[in-house]
Amino acid sequence: MELDVAKVGILAGRTLDEIERLSLSISLGPTARAPHHGLALGSIARAHGLLASMTVLEVQGRRDALGVLNRAIFEVWLLGLVVHLGDESDLEKIDSDDAHFRNKLAKQLPGLVEPVAAVGHPWPVFQRAERLGELFAARGLDATVPTTWYRSLYAIESLNGAHAGLDSLRRHLDVGAEKVAIIFSPDEGSAGLAHLASGAHLAGMLAQMIYNDLGLDTTTLSELAASMLELEQPGRDDAKELCRRLVGAAIGLGAHVTTMSLTDGLGQVVPPVPITAATGCLGEWHPDTGALWTLDVDSDSGRAMVLAHELGHVVLHPKGEPSLGPTLAEEATVHHAASIVCDRFAVPGYLADLARADGCPRPGEAAPADAAALAARIIQLVNGEAQ
Ligand SMILES: [Zn+2]
Repeated sequence: MELDVAKVGILAGRTLDEIERLSLSISLGPTARAPHHGLALGSIARAHGLLASMTVLEVQGRRDALGVLNRAIFEVWLLGLVVHLGDESDLEKIDSDDAHFRNKLAKQLPGLVEPVAAVGHPWPVFQRAERLGELFAARGLDATVPTTWYRSLYAIESLNGAHAGLDSLRRHLDVGAEKVAIIFSPDEGSAGLAHLASGAHLAGMLAQMIYNDLGLDTTTLSELAASMLELEQPGRDDAKELCRRLVGAAIGLGAHVTTMSLTDGLGQVVPPVPITAATGCLGEWHPDTGALWTLDVDSDSGRAMVLAHELGHVVLHPKGEPSLGPTLAEEATVHHAASIVCDRFAVPGYLADLARADGCPRPGEAAPADAAALAARIIQLVNGEAQ
């Protein structure tokens, strides 16, 4: 599904306006009833500021940092809702996390950062998302929403944008046979716009839940958040989107996902491999270490095929099992399952394109009995459905 630039922009702008309008009634009305509410209100203002920055970038035609800002909104959304819906023990854990990192930095930067007396312990973002899931369930809301956002937004963006990984550099380069071109403002296509839509959705949902509990009429925000959610459903026919989801699902199962480039005998990096010409191994899953690597292939559809295949092995051999290497029978199952997954997301040609790879069945060959169940499991995972 293509996102409509004007629609996303208008909805994001209206979300910002509506949050501001409701904030005004808070400051004029009765003050917050519980001590938590003060902090939760701060999270609304922070999310509002980050979303406002995103709209400025969008207007300027700079979509490349939208994902980084959206990831930051997710963190604020998570913190604000844990503070708002949680209890004293949650505030203590957040304080303790702060103390841990503060004291660590105080040791490294004596004089610049003051340590605190408390001995802190980290409270990782994924555990916060799990805790918010519990708090959602207690309210009759879908408990999987926070961890699904964690994987599909936070973890993916950590991998591709927020941290300076190699993929974050590659998107700024167009490597030809003779020369390399530098791209200052890469075309993020609808991915950047999807970030703006989901950033507005998260900021709107955060404000709606908190303001609603403070007795304000938040009908408009609910409607805006619902329209945003409809807009940011990614298209099923997008190979790049399928790659993002496959990587997210693999990370969710504990994998460290790496793309490897080949080098020739002189250490020069060989250009990405055309999938149709590839022979032999295009990826490997090592359950003992949790390493999942794929070869650098030259197309999104090829990358999706390789990732769908490897995710099949991840499902069959969860992290922690010894790495024995797949049998030929497992290869046939995984190949067929991956081809079903790719077909489902309109990435065609798996069996034809990979016909030369090791153990790959020929097109038309009967699928092993367990391939359909494995495919269904992978589809569930990439759709972020209950695990
Ligand atoms: Zn395999």
